[in-house]
Amino acid sequence: MCGICGKGKNTYLCKKCENQLKKEAIFGKDEYQDTYFQNHFYLFHYSGVVRNLILSYKFKEKPYLYKSFINFFSKYQKNCLQFDFYDIIVPVPISQKRKKQRGYNQSLLIAKDIAKELNVNLEPNLLKKAKHNKIQSTLNKVAREQNVKNVYQINGKENIQDKKILLIDDIFTTGSTVNECSKMLKLAGAKKIDILTIAKD
Ligand SMILES: [Zn+2]
Repeated sequence: MCGICGKGKNTYLCKKCENQLKKEAIFGKDEYQDTYFQNHFYLFHYSGVVRNLILSYKFKEKPYLYKSFINFFSKYQKNCLQFDFYDIIVPVPISQKRKKQRGYNQSLLIAKDIAKELNVNLEPNLLKKAKHNKIQSTLNKVAREQNVKNVYQINGKENIQDKKILLIDDIFTTGSTVNECSKMLKLAGAKKIDILTIAKD
C-alpha cells in the first residue's frame, strides 16, 4: 500500500507519489562551523506531503510509513548525496517513557535501514536518553537548547574513540538535539560527526 495515497499493493510508494516526492526532494547538504557536528544532509524540507507523512509515522502509530522515505533514500542517495565514509551509524535516542507511549523509536527505524543501505555498522545503544523531557516541537530555540541539556548519556565510550559517525534523526529544526548528541559523542572521543535527517524544518 502506498504510504502517501494509500492505493496499490506491493509497494510503499506508488509511481505517482514517488514522482511527487521527487519534485519536493532537496538533497541538501549544509556545512556548519560552530557546532559539534560538521555537515547536515537532508532529503526534504519539512512541509506539505513530507510533513504529513512524518507526522503520521511519528504520532499516529503508523511506523511502516517510514519505509516510504527509506525506499526513496535507497533509490536516490548514491546520485544525490555525497556522503563521507563512516565507521558507525547512531540514531538519536528517545526516552523509555516516550518509547512506551509510541511503541518505537522512529529514528532507530530509519537508522537501521540506512545502515544496511550504506553498509555501515549500526550502534543503536551507544547513546542513551537518560531523562524524559518536553517534546522539542513545542518550544522556541532558546528553550530547545535548555531542554536537551544533559539529557543524553554515552553507553560504551571505547566504541567511539576516533570514529566517524553518521547521526540519524527524522527532523532537523534548530539542530539543538543533534548538537547535544554530537557534543556527547565528541567528548567521548569521536573524530567526526555528520547528521542525516529526512527533513529540515
Ligand atoms: Zn501513492
